[in-house]
Amino acid sequence: MIAAPIFAANWKMNHGPTEAGAFMRAFVARYAARDDRTVMFFPSALALAAARDAASARRDLWFGVQNISGEEKGAFTGENSARIARDAGATATLVGHSERRHVFGETDQATADKCAQAVSHGLTPVFCVGETLDERERGHTQSVVLRQLRAGVSRLDAAQLGGLVLAYEPVWAIGTGRNATPADAAAVHAVLRAEMGALGAIGHVPILYGGSVKPDNAAALLDAPGVDGLLVGGASLDVETWLSVVASV
Ligand code: PGA
Repeated sequence: MIAAPIFAANWKMNHGPTEAGAFMRAFVARYAARDDRTVMFFPSALALAAARDAASARRDLWFGVQNISGEEKGAFTGENSARIARDAGATATLVGHSERRHVFGETDQATADKCAQAVSHGLTPVFCVGETLDERERGHTQSVVLRQLRAGVSRLDAAQLGGLVLAYEPVWAIGTGRNATPADAAAVHAVLRAEMGALGAIGHVPILYGGSVKPDNAAALLDAPGVDGLLVGGASLDVETWLSVVASV
């Protein structure tokens, strides 16, 4: 069982090995392990080893990758498989982040393959769903997140479903400075929670909120019903800012 709240740092295409190592040395000097929360880092795959090495004494911190291939192995130039990510020290992977879906054209089917690969190689998928502004304005938020969720987990059995982490990240809130309100987040989290129950997931699957989380809105978002943690991009890049997010509750 992962201690909640979960604070997950998605560094995206920022922080190479040198910066990642410096960040982690500064972070572990200021953040002592706590059993009432979990902190996860998703560096660039090329910076994963440097980040882990700089925090090698810290078994409490999680390290993951931002993406994996949906294929097992072979002629897929430029890709990293779940097995390679696990061997490199990742224990989790983001799947279906909105930038993967909307910038790189990742389909629902691809997210299903990636989730299946992740669980078969012992990586915890942090599976992301979220609607665009247009979809929200047309009243399609629920149908979009449910379609993404059902498709993405379609190859998992009930026990594997119970080992997921979900993240609700409205696309219009990512990197825009416009976060969802706690009530917006709570409403979608309730839909996702109910669907996980309907799908037969065993146990409590944590559901994170992501999208323009900052030190000054983190506590209110975490206080919203059903919000078990935060997936944070921009505000995870600076050590001081990230420490404030992680200590916001
Ligand atoms: P943001 O990104 O915090 O910069 O909005 C969140 C994410 O994309 O995971």
